[in-house]
Amino acid sequence: MLFIVATTTTLGAFAVHRQWLLRQDLEQRFERTRAEVLEGLAQSLAAPAWALNVGILRTGLESTLIHPEVTEACVFSPDRQEIYAEVRRAASAGRAPAPGAPPCAADNGHDVLAKVTIYPPDDIDPERRKQAIGQAVIRFTHDNMQKTLRAAMVQGVTEVAAIDVALVLLLTFGLRMVFRPLGHLRGALFELASSHGDHLDELARLGRTEFDSVIDGFNLVLRRLKLIIAQRTEAEMRARAAIQASNEAFAQIQATQAELVEKNRQLEALSKTDQLTGVFNRRHLNEVLGSALERARCDGSAFSIILVDVDRFKSVNDTHGHQAGDQVLIEMAACILEAKRATDTLGRWGGEEFLLICADTGPQDAVLFAQALRNALSERDFSVTGRMTASLGVASVQDGDTIHGMISRADEALYRSKKHGRNRVEYAGGGVEAMPGEEPRGY
Ligand code: GH3
Ligand code: MG
Ligand code: MG
Repeated sequence: MLFIVATTTTLGAFAVHRQWLLRQDLEQRFERTRAEVLEGLAQSLAAPAWALNVGILRTGLESTLIHPEVTEACVFSPDRQEIYAEVRRAASAGRAPAPGAPPCAADNGHDVLAKVTIYPPDDIDPERRKQAIGQAVIRFTHDNMQKTLRAAMVQGVTEVAAIDVALVLLLTFGLRMVFRPLGHLRGALFELASSHGDHLDELARLGRTEFDSVIDGFNLVLRRLKLIIAQRTEAEMRARAAIQASNEAFAQIQATQAELVEKNRQLEALSKTDQLTGVFNRRHLNEVLGSALERARCDGSAFSIILVDVDRFKSVNDTHGHQAGDQVLIEMAACILEAKRATDTLGRWGGEEFLLICADTGPQDAVLFAQALRNALSERDFSVTGRMTASLGVASVQDGDTIHGMISRADEALYRSKKHGRNRVEYAGGGVEAMPGEEPRGY
C-alpha cells in the first residue's frame, strides 16, 4: 500500500511538472504567434488601408484566421470611430464572439485583444507616414491552449491511474504468485520444526520451475531427515532393548544373589542346627564355648555349662521304638528351651545328651538353675512315655580352662549323678552339692 502511495505521488509530481512545462511551451508559442500575426498584419494592411480598399483589408484580416488562436480581427479608423473591415470566426468554432456582439469589444477575460497601429506604406511621403491611418485589433483566445492543457492533464491523470491499476494488479496477482509458494514453504518449515519426525509429508510441486526447484531441494532434505530419524529411532530401539536386557540380567543376578544369600543363611542355620530337635548342634556349641572361654580369658567374666543326660533312655527305644525315642528327645529339647534364660545357649551334645552354656553365671547360680531344670523335666508329661527324668552335671569356667577340660569336668559330674541314683544335679569340683527334690534358689 505504501509502495502504491509513493509511486502515485512520484508519478503525480512528474505529471504536474510535465503539465507546467507544456504550459510554458504553449504560452511561448502563443506569444510567438501573436507577435508574428501583429507584425505581418502591420505590413500587409498598410497599402489597403491607405487606399481604403475594404475588400483587400478583409482578405488581409482573413489571413489571420489561419491561426487557431485568432477569433476576430478588425480594422478601425485611427480615432476608432469608424470600422473599415471586420472578420470573425464562425460562432461554432470555439470561443468565437457571439453574432451581433460589437466588433473587437473589450476583453472578456478569456481572450487577449492585441492592437497594432497602421501607417501609410513605404512609398508615401515620409511626413505623411508619421500619421496613423488606422488601427488593427486582433482577438486572440487561449481556448486551444486550455484544451491542449486539459487534454494533457487528462492524459497525465489517465497514465497515473493506469500505472496505479497496473501496480495494484501486479501486487495483487504478481506478489501473490511469489508469496503464496513462499507461504507454502514457510508453513512446511514451521510444521517440520514443530513435529517430532512422525508427520513429515513431502511438499507437492507447484508446476512453476523456480519454486519447484526449491521444493525439490526441500523434499530432498526432508527425505534425508526421515532417513536419519529412522536410523536414530532404530538405534534408540536397539539401545532400549539392550538396556532392557541388561536390566533383566541385573534383576536376575540380584534375584540369584538374594537366593544365594537366603540359601547361605539357611545353610549356615542348618550347619549349626541339630536336625532332629532344632536346637544348636555340637559344632556350634563348640564355637560358642570357644568364644565364651576367650571372653572369660579377656575380661575374667564367669560362665558355666550344664550337661543334661536323659535317664534310662535306651529302655524307651527298646520299649516304644526308636521313633518314640526321637519324640522324647524333641520334647526334652523343647522343655529345656522353655526353661532356659535368653542369654543361655542350648544344643544337642550327642545321643540323648544336651549342653546348656549359661553366660555370666557362676557355680552357685548354675547349680540352682540346673536343679530348677531337673525339676521342670521331671514334672513334665511326655507324650509317649509320660514321666521322664534326667541327670545333670555342672561345671564352671576356671583359669586357663579349655573346652575339653570343661566338658570333661561336666561329664565327670554327670557320671556322679548317674552313679548316685540319677535325676540329680552334680557340680564338678566339689563345694556345691544339690540333692534330688531340693528347691532351686533364685530361680
Ligand atoms: P543311663 O541312664 O545310664 O544314661 O542309661 P541310658 O539307657 O540312657 O544310656 P545308654 O548309653 O545305655 O543308652 C543310650 C541310648 O540312646 C543308646 C542309643 O541307641 C540311644 N540313642 C542315641 N541317639 C539316639 C537318637 O538320636 N534317637 C534314638 N531314638 N535313640 C538314640
Ligand atoms: Mg548318655
Ligand atoms: Mg542316658
